[in-house]
Amino acid sequence: MSPPTSDSDMNAVPDCQSCGACCASFRVDFAVQELLSEGGRVPDGLAAPITRHTCRLRGTDHQPPRCAALTGRVGERVACGIYEWRPSPCREFDAGGDACLRARLRHGLLQAQD
Ligand code: SF4
Ligand code: SF4
Repeated sequence: MSPPTSDSDMNAVPDCQSCGACCASFRVDFAVQELLSEGGRVPDGLAAPITRHTCRLRGTDHQPPRCAALTGRVGERVACGIYEWRPSPCREFDAGGDACLRARLRHGLLQAQD
């Protein structure tokens, strides 16, 4: 889940900047070691503690979910406010994979991708 901000990313997955569905569909949990305060890069203010070892991007467990770092309108124009510092689940998200398809389906965006 990663609305891209660079041209190279746009070439790889040209629809992400006009999508953002994954950033408004799933809980995003990651290890506390990824927080800036723990030696990582994710801004602490965007994460809420879940356990001693795990935290969650704020907003991703809301109903409906929407990551607090996401700007813009899903399905129109979006960006990740912490793209360079986003946590590993975002970096590892498989654009075009099953979860991506589910997210786009949830937001009624499949037609725009086909
Ligand atoms: S940190 Fe960025 S890429 Fe990750 S869910 Fe939030 S808006 Fe999406
Ligand atoms: S749901 Fe898929 S196409 Fe949409 S922003 Fe996420 S990775 Fe990109």
